[in-house]
Amino acid sequence: MDTTVRVRFAPSPTGGLHLGGVRTVLYNYLFARQHRGEFVLRIEDTDQNRYVQGAEAYIFDCLQWCGLEPDESVVHGGAYGPYRQSERKENYRQYAEQLVRDGHAYYAFDTPEELEKMRQENRSETNPSPQYDHAVRNRMKNSLTLKEEEVNRLIKEGIPHVIRILIPKEERVSFTDMIRGEVSFETSVVDDKVLLKADGMPTYHLAVVVDDFLMKITHAFRGEEWLPSAPVHILLWKYLFGLDKMPQWAHLPLILGPNGKLSKRDGAKYGFPVFAMNWTDPVTGELTEGFKEKGFLPEAFINLLALLGWNDGTDQEIFRLEELVEKFSMDRVHSGGARFDYEKAKWFNHEWIKASNAGRLMPFVKPVLEAKGLPVNDESFLEKIITLVKERCHLLPDFYDQSFFFFKSPEKIDLEAIQPKWNEQKQLFFAEVIRNFELDPEWKASILESNFKEIAAANHIKPGDVLLPFRIMLVGGKFGPGVFDIAEILGRDETIHRIKETLLRLS
Ligand code: GLU
Repeated sequence: MDTTVRVRFAPSPTGGLHLGGVRTVLYNYLFARQHRGEFVLRIEDTDQNRYVQGAEAYIFDCLQWCGLEPDESVVHGGAYGPYRQSERKENYRQYAEQLVRDGHAYYAFDTPEELEKMRQENRSETNPSPQYDHAVRNRMKNSLTLKEEEVNRLIKEGIPHVIRILIPKEERVSFTDMIRGEVSFETSVVDDKVLLKADGMPTYHLAVVVDDFLMKITHAFRGEEWLPSAPVHILLWKYLFGLDKMPQWAHLPLILGPNGKLSKRDGAKYGFPVFAMNWTDPVTGELTEGFKEKGFLPEAFINLLALLGWNDGTDQEIFRLEELVEKFSMDRVHSGGARFDYEKAKWFNHEWIKASNAGRLMPFVKPVLEAKGLPVNDESFLEKIITLVKERCHLLPDFYDQSFFFFKSPEKIDLEAIQPKWNEQKQLFFAEVIRNFELDPEWKASILESNFKEIAAANHIKPGDVLLPFRIMLVGGKFGPGVFDIAEILGRDETIHRIKETLLRLS
């Protein structure tokens, strides 16, 4: 049978997009492109208590920055909408009621106080957080314990109630995970999860199954943290649609930080980004830095994410998106946690900066320089600078540190690094360099270098003894690319001016 591959990313818009989330997007995207399938983005916003203003738009901004756009979504449209679960509310109740009719679910009328009482009564050392399950359901206020007329009356009177799944007491449920192989669960430890809440909204468990079915999802990839929910979902598939309709699942490995699962707190503590883009919590105003603003190129970000849990079986580490589409395979994703190493992440970015031409880097570098007040109108000047300094940049803001001196004279000249070894001979040497540079007809790095060295030889000076002072005169300190390349870009007048200025201060 020729079924179109349909995958989905199903975020809850509750805050910043963690790099684990973007990796899920990426694997979905690669799998869809590889199979000429469709990639759906569904907003899972049924939990109104966790709704966060701006979080949905932010997710789309992140995907746009990464270049991982879905085929169907709230923004992109599609034949299986609405793509926001809160707008699909009326779809879910019928399935919950069908489950009640078939004896796989029941109405529960327990008040929050009654639930708390149950927990207190059953709490013990071996069972610190008692669940609503086979052990207690027959002592609670639900359609399993109440008479039918009573249930109907309570419903009619509008008494708040939920629908819970009736988890079989002793059953083994299993599925084949694309990464982990056969995974099975004992239902005796699974609780009777709420499927439909008192406000008529479904919970994640019901909504995810119903929507994966209605949206004809063939493969569902999600983080390993969802594995414990799998038995509930398998049972729902079995009761509602048939297991043969269930998508193939892959539970992606956790991303590990310095101490276990990588968290937002790790980012704050160790000074690295965890979210794709800057996220400001609309309530607390707290800003969490993103990879974008930290100065990562989207292609580097994607590359490093692809390798957090996958490799192609060789030592290759640098992959373009098209190459990933070709080579990615779920059976090469490992099941063990994938360690995130920020130094390695910066290495990826450095490799991508080096490999990108000035034209590609221009739209990223320009704003960095502009934000620091440098004039960026002359693109051909910028191109030369970018080409010259990119080797030295790991993050995009490094372009400022490596190139500000092309735009303005350095404010601070590290005279202390020159003074101890400064003498008359060097003073005369630079005076001669100035004369030579003033006359030299062709302003080219290679020619400047050979002239500089010839003058040094004629004055019995080792070039090494005057190169550092020359660099400091031009850029202010012991950094920057090749000093003759700098001089070439600065131009004759500015180079000579900077040498003269420093000589004055040294004499
Ligand atoms: N809404 C869930 C989340 O926020 C989706 C989990 C899944 O993909 O099934 O991650």
